[in-house]
Amino acid sequence: MSDTMKQIVLASRPKGAPTPENFRLEELPLPTPGEGEVLVRVHYMSLDPYMRGRMDDAKSYAACIPVDGKMEGGSVGEIIASNAEGFAVGEFVMGGFGWATHAVSGTQGLAKIDPDTTPITYALGALGMPGLTGWYGLTELGKPKKGETLVVAAATGPVGSMVGQIAKAKGLRTVGIAGGPEKCKLAVEHFGFDVCLDHRAYDTAADLRAALEKECPDGVDIYFENVAGKVLDAVLPLMNAHGRIPICGMIAWYNEGGVGADAIEKTLTAPKLWRTILVNFLSVNGFIIANHFDRMPDFHKEIGPLISDGSIRVQEDITEELENAPKAFIDLLSGGNTGKAMVKVI
Ligand code: NDP
Repeated sequence: MSDTMKQIVLASRPKGAPTPENFRLEELPLPTPGEGEVLVRVHYMSLDPYMRGRMDDAKSYAACIPVDGKMEGGSVGEIIASNAEGFAVGEFVMGGFGWATHAVSGTQGLAKIDPDTTPITYALGALGMPGLTGWYGLTELGKPKKGETLVVAAATGPVGSMVGQIAKAKGLRTVGIAGGPEKCKLAVEHFGFDVCLDHRAYDTAADLRAALEKECPDGVDIYFENVAGKVLDAVLPLMNAHGRIPICGMIAWYNEGGVGADAIEKTLTAPKLWRTILVNFLSVNGFIIANHFDRMPDFHKEIGPLISDGSIRVQEDITEELENAPKAFIDLLSGGNTGKAMVKVI
């Protein structure tokens, strides 16, 4: 066993889209677990859009990563040393180990994973935080009803694909939006969307809206908000009365100085937005899934068997080596991933 480990830290705060210079790889002595702690050898590390927000020193629902601090994130790995009761060497766990090959962790927030039932990577995607996000946001806030029409962008990602597949199973018309013809094909053929539009093929929100209008002849009842930007501008006027908009993410704006007022001003004006919500009696609910992790067992109970029998499909995008994490993350923010982005660390 090597006596060193590697980690990636935030070298500087990005201005706009992150660049490789914003990250730094460090080598450290392998830490030793204290009383009540375990040492984990990370196998797979998750890359998620929310990490972009943590790189900015802006007021948010979570504290930012300090400059020179380890990049945060969820990972799955194997316990290689343990001083914690109930956690044995050789067991697999998921936790917030950050961008690193190894981590010492207390047992709070550690979840055991059985590698014999499902691939351990699923704990980071389809059966983990992103899958839960799609399930919770759609069922609790979207309140889907048979015969309705749903629109979701980032349709082949772990959140969007979960949303689309559950909505389809509940009898909705599902309209995906994704970047490029390959992803649109995947959305329809692999994830079962009724149709998928390529947002890159439309220069303006008005053009995208015209195409969406054709695919949503009865209007839109649920817009599951994953991206905002041009897509939001296109969909909003198509919302039906009593429509629902679970606000999950707004990745189109993450690189524009956070999601501050300046970025939002570029597209929708507040009066237009507010009026649309009022005159259509829309329910617009922002949510952060970390406040609903207590629903994980319900989610696993309902969706676990559907993943096991193949009725809900999974797509993963795995990058090799910790060193390549910054590039994979930068790519994720502009649609370079196809499926749940993660890094194989071991
Ligand atoms: P994905 O794996 O789908 O990756 C993000 C995708 O966003 C890209 O692949 C790209 O897909 C799309 N995208 C990027 N920029 C734009 C743009 N300008 N316009 C349209 N699409 C764009 O991500 P996740 O499934 O993990 O997350 C989806 C959203 O959900 C994110 O906004 C994320 O922040 C949010 N989220 C929120 C949570 C919460 O608690 N509220 C929890 C988890 C995720 P494409 O190439 O198809 O356009």
